[in-house]
Amino acid sequence: MKNEKIINYLDELFPNPKCELTYFNDYSLLMAIVLSAQCTDKRVNMVTPIIFKKYKSLEELSNADVKDLEDIIRPVGSFRKKSVYLKEIAKLLLEKYDGKVPIDKHLLEQFPGVGRKTANVFLSEFYNYTAIAVDTHVDRVSKRLKLAYSNDSVNKVEEKLMKKFPKDKWAKLHLQLVLFGRYYCKAIKPECTNCKLKDLCRYKGRDK
Ligand code: SF4
Repeated sequence: MKNEKIINYLDELFPNPKCELTYFNDYSLLMAIVLSAQCTDKRVNMVTPIIFKKYKSLEELSNADVKDLEDIIRPVGSFRKKSVYLKEIAKLLLEKYDGKVPIDKHLLEQFPGVGRKTANVFLSEFYNYTAIAVDTHVDRVSKRLKLAYSNDSVNKVEEKLMKKFPKDKWAKLHLQLVLFGRYYCKAIKPECTNCKLKDLCRYKGRDK
């Protein structure tokens, strides 16, 4: 009943949720997700067209001068680390995977800058793979809605969400929870006044 209420409300708010990162193929999506760590999608979307206009292929990216890449990536933060990640991902894709991003969570997690969350986001967006990636928004919303304990790790939150919701809802639910966290259940000053989940929430706008 409680979980149904959450699904219904999220369906009402976001009937067709979409990933807000712009991309044109598998590696551009993977790299955009890597760049989005600790950064907004909006900012990443300002930077990725510049990267992929300058470096038109994985070969060009793998040979990029890291200083030039850093200058482009600077606005998304952690630019030194992220520039190296992008170059190394390009290299690895060419050397081991024939330029195609593997459809395997464990292989993906071995890529530089790619952890469990990034692998899940990539697979569920690009291949519709059934996963619930837990980013900062999903984590916060799940805890406020008592779907997990406040001190649960992200892996624990993921595990609990997968137990509580049917598998065919996971990919959509992930996107809905991200959007709900980004635009309504924000970290600071969430929009609680009209929230239909208030009665399920341990937080209920305490900040306001
Ligand atoms: S009541 Fe506020 S904090 Fe709770 S789920 Fe709704 S928006 Fe988030």
